[in-house]
Amino acid sequence: MSDNFLRRAEFLLSAHTLDQCPEDSGREVAFVGRSNAGKSSVINALTGKRGLARTSKTPGRTQLINFFILDAHRRLVDLPGFGFAKVPPSMQAHWFRTVNDYLQRRRSLAGLILIMDVRRNPGTEETQIPAWCEAVGLPVHVLLNKADKLSFGAGSRRLLAVRSTLEQHGCTVQLFSARDRSGLEEAAVVVQGWLAGDGNNGTAQKKNSPG
Ligand code: GDP
Repeated sequence: MSDNFLRRAEFLLSAHTLDQCPEDSGREVAFVGRSNAGKSSVINALTGKRGLARTSKTPGRTQLINFFILDAHRRLVDLPGFGFAKVPPSMQAHWFRTVNDYLQRRRSLAGLILIMDVRRNPGTEETQIPAWCEAVGLPVHVLLNKADKLSFGAGSRRLLAVRSTLEQHGCTVQLFSARDRSGLEEAAVVVQGWLAGDGNNGTAQKKNSPG
């Protein structure tokens, strides 16, 4: 298994704005997704640490950018989720500003993992986020989570359908299940590739440099 490096993840800090983020050096990989798509479960599965997601779900922290340190130069970043029911417009606007700002300006950001429920079609945010990333040359890898809920055939059809929508923005897409850990190796290779800066996911690397 190639995810040993990710197992070093430890909670570092939460930020409400870009100014509160750790120093913008080294490399980081961020995770974003619609509420309930399984972002916390994916981070747990990739790091092998259940406690990390609990950290991000601490009341008051769900709207924050949560940083997890891997070593002195590398981090994982849990971005605030979207699509919560009955969220006031001011909070939606804050999400938009914070995530857009972070994706556009964070130089150490090497790639974004977008988590979707395999059974849902891409919504406004799932189309908007890849477009923002494409504009700054940031690679996006999409995990179609909860693949255990579908048969092999149905999952394959969903994969093709979502690929055809999101590939136009240069995204790579795979099936995943945080529950039965299918797709874990493939996802870990992408995340570790971005953190190592070897560009092995086949997409363009952002303008940043390691260290
Ligand atoms: P978040 O809101 O995106 O952080 O989502 P969570 O990680 O809290 O997951 C939301 C719900 O989906 C929880 O009940 C999880 O147990 C469930 N869940 C997450 N991943 C999977 C998966 O791969 N398969 C299935 N069947 N359920 C999942």
